[in-house]
Amino acid sequence: MPQYDYDLFVIGGGSGGVRAARVAAAMGKRVVLAEEFRFGGTCVIRGCVPKKLYVYASQFPEHFEDAAGYGWTVGESSFDWKTLVANKEREISRLEAIYKRNVDNSGGETIHSRATLVDRHTIRIEADGRTVTADQILIATGGRPSTHPALPGHEHCIYSNEVFDLPELPTAIMIEGGGYIAVEFANIFHGLGVETTLVYRGKEILSRFDMDLRRTLHETMEQKGIKILLHSVSQEVSKRDDGRLEVKLNTGRSLTVDQVLLAIGRTPNTENLGLEAAGVELDKAGAVVVDAYSRTSADNIWAVGDVTNRVQLTPVAIHEAMCFIETAFKGNPTTPDHDTIPTAVFSQPEIGTVGLSEDEAAKRHKNLEIYRASFRPMRHTLSGRQEKMLMKLVVDADTRIVVGAHILGPDAGEMAQLLGIALKARLTKEDFDRTMAVHPTAAEELVTMYKPSYLVKDGIRLDA
Ligand code: FAD
Repeated sequence: MPQYDYDLFVIGGGSGGVRAARVAAAMGKRVVLAEEFRFGGTCVIRGCVPKKLYVYASQFPEHFEDAAGYGWTVGESSFDWKTLVANKEREISRLEAIYKRNVDNSGGETIHSRATLVDRHTIRIEADGRTVTADQILIATGGRPSTHPALPGHEHCIYSNEVFDLPELPTAIMIEGGGYIAVEFANIFHGLGVETTLVYRGKEILSRFDMDLRRTLHETMEQKGIKILLHSVSQEVSKRDDGRLEVKLNTGRSLTVDQVLLAIGRTPNTENLGLEAAGVELDKAGAVVVDAYSRTSADNIWAVGDVTNRVQLTPVAIHEAMCFIETAFKGNPTTPDHDTIPTAVFSQPEIGTVGLSEDEAAKRHKNLEIYRASFRPMRHTLSGRQEKMLMKLVVDADTRIVVGAHILGPDAGEMAQLLGIALKARLTKEDFDRTMAVHPTAAEELVTMYKPSYLVKDGIRLDA
């Protein structure tokens, strides 16, 4: 008789949890996965997927405008928020069903309930109060938007969880935050015709990205009509008699808007999970502490994804889950590789990036060559749109290895995926130069920048 009811109990049916449950079940393990809200987790239900659908929706007004230069007359257009929300809901429900089915069809069991730990091997299914035991346990409970209880009037504000399902499209919105979620929503709402103000306490949006891209994106967003207030934080939000919100900022400025979206960070979902009883250690931010193999301080309990606060991206959660399976069930201890992760910001224009920013590279490498091109993409020649595309390669001049690649412009995310392979393979600038261009594309610029734009020696910029 097996000692435990299950070989693996997974808490959380998001990107990481579903992958681990599905693969372990397909190996013949006795697996159960509990999800308290909706299968698919943040990415499918209120993250990457609905966000990208809303980005597409918000791009149509520019497409309509650009069409004129190509000879098209686009008739009167109008936008219906409720149609977008309903169609988004249909799509995420389809994906939700697939996520659940993938676990079921692999031979795993799915439970729609909150689950908590009673001890190192016992889990309570909160929906019916029963307890089950498992040999191995995976915590994949993700995170949620950080709230701001110290802000007077915070109860009038919304977070990324609510923003997808607002009953009405606001006339004016204030978004607080400078991370990718805040920036993406600023562009979405602006594109949908909402008067949009982005409020950020820092000196430039999107910290940790390359400064060139940050500045150029900032300028382009302002040219489009998005107001960006830096060194600013909200100090009070109050509701007026007419239902609109009045926001007072630290700078003395005040704004009148219909919605205030706070996108000021994410908090790991670890409260009231019974982690202490099971001997699982948390860090100061409440994230589960794991070793290089995603093992917690209790040796049969593991954690992957956002709950560990390593790199909060869907493909990373999935990769950590796959490494966990190798380690825990295949006798092949495997550590997740968090180095050189390509990523995108679905701003308008889009950012695609991989490797070190120029500033970060300058801290690690004595001699850099920077190849930089700023140009109007061909698509905008006839459209008349003045938006520039920016491409930048950061090369370690001593080894010739391309250590950073940064793009701002149409399809930058798609390009970052492929550049990710080149940078992961530690290809040199000469490998880029030997590669034939694909013409006419914007990406060909990446293999035709023959002369450095400038050099960086010991952190100081020099002419090439
Ligand atoms: P989650 O996907 O958050 O899943 C955790 C699940 O656990 C949830 O479904 C939750 O309901 C459940 N749960 C929690 N506690 C319990 C419990 N006690 N019992 C049962 N179930 C529980 N990443 C990208 O790579 N690209 C993007 O473009 C992108 N865009 C994003 C946009 C937004 C607005 C947000 C918020 C996030 C975005 N992300 C993006 C990040 C991405 O969504 C997360 O990194 C990813 O979902 C993390 O997966 P996870 O498995 O760790 O957690």
